[in-house]
Amino acid sequence: MAKKQDTKNAENDNDKNPKANNTPTVNKHYEIIDSEIVYEFGGPLGVTAMMVGFPLLMYYLWGCLQFYRGKLVSPFDNQFCNQVFKGAFPTWYATKMYVLFCLFELFLAYFMPGPIVKGAPVSSLKGRRLDYLCNGVTSWYATLATSFILHNYGWFRLTEIIDNFGPLMSVAVISGFVITLVIYATTIMQGNQYRMSGHLMYDLFMGAALNPRLGHVDLKMFAEIRIPWVLLFYISVSAAIKEYELFGYVSASMSFMVLAHFLYVNACAKGEECIPTTWDMTYEKFGFMLIFWNFAGVPFTYCFATIYLHNISIDNKQPLQHSQSWTYFCYALLLLGYYIWDTANSQKNRFRMINNGSYIPRYTFPQLPWGTLKNPTYIKTKSGNLLLTSGWWGIARKIHYTADLMMAFSWAFITGFSTVITYFYPVFFIVVLMHRVTRDMQRCAKKYGKDWEEYCRRVPYIFIPGIY
Ligand code: NDP
Repeated sequence: MAKKQDTKNAENDNDKNPKANNTPTVNKHYEIIDSEIVYEFGGPLGVTAMMVGFPLLMYYLWGCLQFYRGKLVSPFDNQFCNQVFKGAFPTWYATKMYVLFCLFELFLAYFMPGPIVKGAPVSSLKGRRLDYLCNGVTSWYATLATSFILHNYGWFRLTEIIDNFGPLMSVAVISGFVITLVIYATTIMQGNQYRMSGHLMYDLFMGAALNPRLGHVDLKMFAEIRIPWVLLFYISVSAAIKEYELFGYVSASMSFMVLAHFLYVNACAKGEECIPTTWDMTYEKFGFMLIFWNFAGVPFTYCFATIYLHNISIDNKQPLQHSQSWTYFCYALLLLGYYIWDTANSQKNRFRMINNGSYIPRYTFPQLPWGTLKNPTYIKTKSGNLLLTSGWWGIARKIHYTADLMMAFSWAFITGFSTVITYFYPVFFIVVLMHRVTRDMQRCAKKYGKDWEEYCRRVPYIFIPGIY
């Protein structure tokens, strides 16, 4: 007979759930799934190609934006290669900027106040739940205040970021490789490696350590939250200040980029306490994929729209202007995407946190309506985990991905249609999210079996209700 499904009020069920504690609870089934070696990204060959190809692609696309107004030119052209080599040659000045920024963020992550949140039970730690100091918000405000003071008193002009973009990108790329090697070697020396395939390149790419820490700072969470989005935001702020200095005003397009990147970094900081229980924290290891992408890939490719707007304004001696209706459309798409993304993530994370006893109400800005569901419906899986079936999660299984993509496309639309390079981020992001969906669905299907089938039956659409 089909297994009985439970759809009921989460609040009633709360009483029956043990509140958060650090008592190890091992679920053998999860442990087996989490420790299984699955070759992804084309296995050792595929990941080696990615480790070489990603940095080269970054240089190529940046070179086209920087020197050819976003036109795709031959990557083998001598002049092009010389321009990129000279323009992106790493300097000591850029190294100081980048390293000091990372150390400052690490200092904040270590010392700023914030609530301590328990992560999900980690199978490799026999079900132990790790503590995470969630001081993202205080660190973010401290970063904003510090940068304002540095800029205002002329101790560090924020325009230096956009003026040194090429060298900074190279420093970030080198850092991505160096940090990968250091973390990998340290993990092996400490004997903390987990889920190793035995193929060096594959293990470097996927990582050896699951939860590497420096004192109480979780390095994986630090790298995901404190570096990429903050850098991305400051690249746009830098370009906006530069525009103001050159033209006496900040255009609607450049303001859009500042707002877009502000929303993203602010969301990561304000919702940080939801991150310790996510898949990235409990399952993904800290290897090249996460390290390189966070220290170099995200900040230095997701900003292509800003770089394009900046370069075009200098070439044309005036910022890019769109029709009012197009500008309004881009802003509307961004804000709608943000609203769905923010509330969908918060609905699921808060629901899970309420039910495992780790929920802490926070009043960080902005708290949007429908961010917490009242009387949510859910499926109680055989293993005890709950799958939310109401709110955005009753509409489509990955609607937060769709919303993230709406934002990504709005970042590109604000640059118009004269170059394809500003569309790199949304197109690449589609590939990333499709891959993530496939991995996640397979993992959940294995993990939850018939309960997952029931969930997919109840919420049949993945991205867009009624369509797909
Ligand atoms: P999800 O937030 O979708 O998390 C997936 C996990 O959530 C599943 O493995 C399962 O975990 C749990 N889950 C799935 N369905 C339900 C449900 N109905 N109720 C409760 N729990 C459920 O994915 P991500 O971690 O990939 O993404 C988080 C956010 O980060 C997204 O908004 C995404 O857009 C964004 N993101 C952004 C990136 C960028 O570069 N800009 C890159 C990647 C993500 P369990 O095993 O615990 O049941």
